[in-house]
Amino acid sequence: MAQTRARSLVAILVLLAFLTGTSPVSAPADAAAPPKQCAWATEYNRTLDELGENRALWRVGDVPDTGWGEASDAGAVVDALVPCRYVADVVRHEHMHLQQVRQFGSGRFAAFVLGADRIEIVADCASLLAGSRYTPYVDLAGGCSERDLRDARQLLLKR
Ligand SMILES: [Zn+2]
Repeated sequence: MAQTRARSLVAILVLLAFLTGTSPVSAPADAAAPPKQCAWATEYNRTLDELGENRALWRVGDVPDTGWGEASDAGAVVDALVPCRYVADVVRHEHMHLQQVRQFGSGRFAAFVLGADRIEIVADCASLLAGSRYTPYVDLAGGCSERDLRDARQLLLKR
């Protein structure tokens, strides 16, 4: 009797699983592990620490238009609407602009020396070398030239 009831229960569970598209028998091993969460502030702070950045020069705010980040001689801003998975890469890119300021004394002089049209690609190539996967300027250019990489490496050296 108990066996029959158990068999009926299994049959119901199998039917339920079929109807709902789930399996009552064995869930994948990793299903028990909590999903990997992306915590915005953690990503932001961890990346600033990884880069040895001075937090006083950084703020989270609104970057005009569709920009995700902005840097000037005074510091950097990361847009609060940047999706979490891109935060670290945006921070690295803006860090490289601050490194350009540190290397050349100002963003304006960096643009003069590197070439105004090369400010972004050099920052993005340096961001790539520092571990970023989201590098839109590199993607747009189809990669970093030897010259871009040489200038990018200078930014990684500068502290
Ligand atoms: Zn930029």
